[in-house]
Amino acid sequence: RPDVFTFGETMVALRGSGPLKLGGTMNVSIAGAESNVAIGLTRLGHDVRWSGAVGEDEAGQLVLRTLRAEGVDVSSAATDPGAPTGLLLFEPRLPEVTRVHYYRTGSAGSRLTADMIQRAFSAAPPRVLHLTGITPSLSSTARSAARRALQLAQEHGSLVCLDVNFRARLWTAEEAAEVLREWIPAVDVLIASDDELPLCLPGDGGLDGSAEGSESSRRGKGTRTCADAVNLPPQGDVGDPAVSLATQAQLLLDQGVSEIVVKLGAAGARVFTQSGSVHRPAKPVRAVDAVGAGDAFVAGYLSALLDGEEPDVRLERAITSGAFAVASRGDWEGAPTRSELGMLGAPPGTVVR
Ligand code: ATP
Repeated sequence: RPDVFTFGETMVALRGSGPLKLGGTMNVSIAGAESNVAIGLTRLGHDVRWSGAVGEDEAGQLVLRTLRAEGVDVSSAATDPGAPTGLLLFEPRLPEVTRVHYYRTGSAGSRLTADMIQRAFSAAPPRVLHLTGITPSLSSTARSAARRALQLAQEHGSLVCLDVNFRARLWTAEEAAEVLREWIPAVDVLIASDDELPLCLPGDGGLDGSAEGSESSRRGKGTRTCADAVNLPPQGDVGDPAVSLATQAQLLLDQGVSEIVVKLGAAGARVFTQSGSVHRPAKPVRAVDAVGAGDAFVAGYLSALLDGEEPDVRLERAITSGAFAVASRGDWEGAPTRSELGMLGAPPGTVVR
């Protein structure tokens, strides 16, 4: 039984060092929220299976080879001869702002199907199923795949973790809310940014576009992706939500979610359970590239959960892992191994020999 099964779209990622239109060199890597989490977890010593589809092309080979090299089980991933592997370009535009350009419409990754995920899941039912809100936005077949995975998790007693990961480029807040609200009763661990919580709440849950508005104005992150911020309405009263975080979390607890983990960027994170709430401030680091912080955070959280740790220890490992991601370039490259977790408190200038 693998510790975690996750699936989604992983693309080839090219990272430049200045304005894209000027050309120059780019670093070639891969990126995908679910595979970032998978890598984060294998670095921490867990047994993880990732599934998804890549094109029958060299880009697809890069995706699979990289995941394999990181120890992720990709034996259930598919190669789709009818579509290319998706691509994204990271354009660091200002020290604090990274622009992301996607070339993923019609990609192999967006064509994954429920049957494919059923085969991958059933071959080895996991302890934890990890889903993101990106997958259902990719296509109707990807949405069915996620739904099937939720059913299978229920049948096999797998714990379900959902990271909302709202992407305004891929669907509207209303479309996301419709799907996410339907999923909530099947979710055990819900992970979201504070501005994403309303997407999961019953009724209109304060769906006033705040998830979109605040994406462009996150709380003091060192660097942020503003891919989803382009074309978004100006910031609303995000800092003054009509419904407080605790009230929103309670509404979700009432629907059977056992823990709600709220990522607060440079302000750390907070977890709500039926027994109360715990907050941990972020670890101070020199922020180099905040892309991937959320995924590293999820990996840290799930790692401690799999180890049977209490919510405060889960949060601690999550924020430590998130801080590593922020302090290094790349989506997943900086994710810590278990033995590296203690490095963060080391005084400046420390040399580990
Ligand atoms: P992304 O989508 O860019 O991966 P996110 O919006 O999902 O990120 P954040 O809330 O930005 O997630 O970050 C996740 C966690 O990473 C935070 O809860 C925090 O613990 C850590 N983190 C984020 N930014 C910083 C920072 N500047 N310094 C230290 N830790 C940070």
